[in-house]
Amino acid sequence: MKKKIKFKADIRKVLDIMIKNLYSYKEIFIREIISNSQDAIDKLKYIYNNINFNIKIKINKIKKKITIIDNGIGMNKNEIINNLGTIAKSGTKNFLSKLTGNKKKDNKLIGKFGVGFYSVFIVSKLVKVISKKYNNKNIGYEWISEGKGNFYIKKKKKKNYGTTIKLYLKEKEKKFLSYKKIIKIIKKYSNYISSPIKIKKKKK
Ligand code: ADP
Ligand code: MG
Repeated sequence: MKKKIKFKADIRKVLDIMIKNLYSYKEIFIREIISNSQDAIDKLKYIYNNINFNIKIKINKIKKKITIIDNGIGMNKNEIINNLGTIAKSGTKNFLSKLTGNKKKDNKLIGKFGVGFYSVFIVSKLVKVISKKYNNKNIGYEWISEGKGNFYIKKKKKKNYGTTIKLYLKEKEKKFLSYKKIIKIIKKYSNYISSPIKIKKKKK
């Protein structure tokens, strides 16, 4: 069954601020997603150290979709609801509170601090997060949102533990559906990531 849940804070407002302030830096959504994947991997590394940890990225030009897959710790249902549904829990709120309106200062902030998961909505019209916690045998959950005040959550079969993020891009952000561009952005912002980032080309 699909359950509709309201975002706890006025996420619309936060998104408006975000889009206005970060529009010139929208490419950082890649950095944010990859850094969350690395965080999730670091958490599981603490428990198991013998896994082939990695982050995979796929581009589907037809569906205008970017998919990011990690085999990190994953989230259970409550964690998905609390971690992705509450601005207060995310890096975003902290970041936004630091913005000054001064371009130079804000540039530095964007470079330095995590902007958070919600930066995906600057470029995406629809986001799906499918996650399975490492110690859950069968059940995974899917979180679906257009970033407009509510999200849906439902059970979803997932073979492997970890998190898959599907970003359905806005029509005008199609330029991010390029491997070249994505690789360039990763090199620019995510050089420090210790897990291998595998970019999978679709045969087509
Ligand atoms: P921050 O990284 O500063 O905590 P974010 O907004 O980037 O804030 O992410 C919010 C939270 O969502 C994270 O703290 C984490 O608990 C959860 N999360 C996001 N992406 C993942 C992921 N790939 N795997 C597991 N948990 C995740
Ligand atoms: Mg983060």
